[in-house]
Amino acid sequence: MNWRLNRIQYPIYNLGPGKRIGIWVQGCSIRCEGCVSKTLWAVDGGRNIDVLELAEKIISVKEYYNGLTISGGEPFDQYEFLITFCAFIKKMTKLNIYCYSGYTIDELSRMHPDRLFIQYMDGSSGKFVGKAKEEGRGKRKVEKE
Ligand code: SF4
Repeated sequence: MNWRLNRIQYPIYNLGPGKRIGIWVQGCSIRCEGCVSKTLWAVDGGRNIDVLELAEKIISVKEYYNGLTISGGEPFDQYEFLITFCAFIKKMTKLNIYCYSGYTIDELSRMHPDRLFIQYMDGSSGKFVGKAKEEGRGKRKVEKE
């Protein structure tokens, strides 16, 4: 089950609280004007990474980190892989998951009526308020508060 990713960075201390692992997906179909991450648009860039192998690696180091941040590129362009990964991490760890998307929560809910992303993605206090925060050009954090 291959997820197209650009890079994985650790530790990172931004894009969420505490010490984190950052995952940048490859590919973005939104193409915002003024995007500063155009190198992440092409779906044939980056490399394939097996979702479950990556999750297992992260689980093996979970005690050293507070959370994960997934950005890109557009994480929701690869929804099946994103949700599979997040479900596995949530089941096996206490890591919080922040995800930065170019879509609003309403748009994501229409595109993905299962709304599983709400179940698996966190904010600072864990209560979902159904909004997406503006985070720079075209990028919003999918957030519970
Ligand atoms: S969603 Fe993000 S990566 Fe995609 S075009 Fe907009 S700013 Fe760039």
